[in-house]
Amino acid sequence: MPPYRYQATEHFQKKLQRIINQDPEGHRHIMKVVDRILENPSDADGKMHGSHRGKYKKYVGRDGYRLLYYFCELCRKANRRLPDICRDCDTLPDNSVIFFDVFHKNEKDKLHY
Ligand SMILES: [Zn+2]
Repeated sequence: MPPYRYQATEHFQKKLQRIINQDPEGHRHIMKVVDRILENPSDADGKMHGSHRGKYKKYVGRDGYRLLYYFCELCRKANRRLPDICRDCDTLPDNSVIFFDVFHKNEKDKLHY
């Protein structure tokens, strides 16, 4: 299994920073799940619909957080760029896993989840 490389959008980093301050334990759980995704990104909890169509989602235990991500191995397999999903694909290494968003399930209405 190839070693995957962590990439995060600015949006993701900002939200994570907020969670560090507001919910340190939740943040710890999120980072554990991030590590797990980096070991095996195809082990997702499903695909998103609506405005985040095509991205993968992963639940973070009982904390009610969801992670949105994608990995460029799939872009390369499709042999094309996936601009809707993976905007910066061209500039990313093949083994990238990109984290786009993390949100709490209470936010879901805003995201047309
Ligand atoms: Zn990509």
